[in-house]
Amino acid sequence: MQVKDITAAIEAFAPLMYQESYDNSGLQVGNATDEVTGVLITLDVTEQVLDEAIERGCNMVVCHHPVIFSGLKRITGRNYVERIVHKAIKNDITIYAAHTNLDNMYAGVNAKIAEKLGLTDIKILAPKTDTLCKLYTYAPMASAQHVLEALFAAGAGHIGKYEECSFNAPGTGTFRAQTGANPTIGEAGGPREWVDEVKIEVLVPKHLQTAVLRALFKAHPYEEVAHELMPLPNLNQQIGAGMVGILPQPMEETDFLAMLKKEMKAGVVRHTALNGKKIEKVAICGGSGSFLVNDAINAGADVFVTSDYKYHQFFDAEGKIIIADIGHYESEQYTGEIFEEIIKEKFPTFAVLLSNYSTNPVKYF
Ligand SMILES: [Zn+2]
Repeated sequence: MQVKDITAAIEAFAPLMYQESYDNSGLQVGNATDEVTGVLITLDVTEQVLDEAIERGCNMVVCHHPVIFSGLKRITGRNYVERIVHKAIKNDITIYAAHTNLDNMYAGVNAKIAEKLGLTDIKILAPKTDTLCKLYTYAPMASAQHVLEALFAAGAGHIGKYEECSFNAPGTGTFRAQTGANPTIGEAGGPREWVDEVKIEVLVPKHLQTAVLRALFKAHPYEEVAHELMPLPNLNQQIGAGMVGILPQPMEETDFLAMLKKEMKAGVVRHTALNGKKIEKVAICGGSGSFLVNDAINAGADVFVTSDYKYHQFFDAEGKIIIADIGHYESEQYTGEIFEEIIKEKFPTFAVLLSNYSTNPVKYF
């Protein structure tokens, strides 16, 4: 097993192209072709976590928060980042981070919180735009189904909870093969051909664009495959920030806060004034989510569960929603389970361990 096998499995689930522009997810320390003895999963990399990795025979650490976030100009042990990088290199430990790309996945960080709170009917709170393309292609009638199957197999045609979505319209294609061409229909230098074809339309998420085009070119019988790929400004229900879902039963506000505190193992829940109505719709955002408060209000959520709220930001609730800050670490503490599930599903017998340490730098007195 090499580092790149593990990272490919994680990136198939959470492609790096969906990380935010300020982020630095991906391979942080190490070589893609190094052999992996075992993977230790953690929210943050600390020196203690590296010691644990060494003790437990893991030479790869997979984390949520990148340890290298901004540029490193020297590695001289002046701060914890430099010491961690130095120690990892010295001990041949690979560090890999999947941060906002994992936050932005439908089945990512927020789905895990939703699962712990028992939310159903979950939806992304702020779906991303510009992550989808429309592919148009034209196949002769006899090959249309084969081409369509290949596009579906490569991941095209997925809309929300539906797969194999396409639109197919019969029509007539024309072409004239010039000298030197190798046409499937007609002959080089011959007359114009009029062929019964099917125009196939499918949606393609951007991270699958190359794979889908490769599948199209392989399955299509023509030497030149006519196709158009159009970027779409549509919202993508599979990718974006935050999540909103429904509780199985409406709850009294204080009962909800008690459940939240227990399920998320929160030392304290800092919240805005209660509104005197039952909680049914819950918006969540693992990590710092204050930028989503208006999305939560517009989604009709009764409460917004997130972290890293500052004093003045609590005023944004304006009596329309209850903001509940449970702490950054607490909100993302179950993220490691996602990495564990991804790696174990792909490599069932491989050594994947969850760190035994809480890396939360915040303590409650
Ligand atoms: Zn975080």
